[in-house]
Amino acid sequence: MDEATLERFAKELAAVVACNESCRGAPKFCSPREIAKAAAAFAQLGRVAIISGFYIPAAKAPETDGPGGAAVLARAFLKEGRSCEIWTDALCLDVMRAGARAAGCPEDIAREAPSSLDGAAPEGIIFIERPGRAADGRYYNFRKQDISRWTAPLDSFAYEAASRGIVTAGIGDGGNEAGMGNFRKGLCALLPDYVSCLSVVRTDFSIAADISNMGAYALALALSLVWGRMRGIERGDETKILEAVVSAGAVDGISGRRETSVDGFKAAVLEKKVSLLNALRRRYAGLGISGS
Ligand code: ZN
Ligand code: ZN
Repeated sequence: MDEATLERFAKELAAVVACNESCRGAPKFCSPREIAKAAAAFAQLGRVAIISGFYIPAAKAPETDGPGGAAVLARAFLKEGRSCEIWTDALCLDVMRAGARAAGCPEDIAREAPSSLDGAAPEGIIFIERPGRAADGRYYNFRKQDISRWTAPLDSFAYEAASRGIVTAGIGDGGNEAGMGNFRKGLCALLPDYVSCLSVVRTDFSIAADISNMGAYALALALSLVWGRMRGIERGDETKILEAVVSAGAVDGISGRRETSVDGFKAAVLEKKVSLLNALRRRYAGLGISGS
């Protein structure tokens, strides 16, 4: 796959997943180049860990954004014969497992994160909608509430990975997630009232999207193009995964209610986005992605 084609594809993917429909600002910093570069780098790796799970204390439940992206990306790596685990914390584990199972991954692919990378070091780590610490070392949600008590410091793997030469990517949508530190300067200017909550955690590649799950789906399709095989999200996956994670207790991160929506976007709307992504993928079929 030549670089120019991959970047052109990434540009079209970004137009679907980062059109700033959420009006939260972060997707403005979505760069097709970053999607392309992340796909080119992660496509080469044999062992990947995905870190996800965002707990909403007010609802006493994890949110629906994250598990779908983690499950679809993990499935992509597994189908391609790579090894992949989903790491999360105890509070988000059941929901993460339910999402993985609904996507057809083995359930034990999701586990509580190890305490360090000693003996468990993957070659690459992808954060999806995982809280990233702010400048004061604490974690905040989009309502500016301090959620540190409920947030295991899994973003520290970004620092540990950097010191070990492990490649990292971060996918987020609000600016408070691991990886969004790459856009900090721009986000501070754009969201002056939210500066104290913005994450300082940087990753090698950073993808901002309207919804983090959608950013992960875009990456799975970009990987598919590099691999030359369809490893992305299929029609119906989004609804199936959402129903499973909500049954396991997940809530919409914006409404705080147990409903099959993500950040206020209903399942049917998300399925439409997925079909736009797959229409793009079919257009690129002749250039390398085989499969249905
Ligand atoms: Zn978010
Ligand atoms: Zn989100």
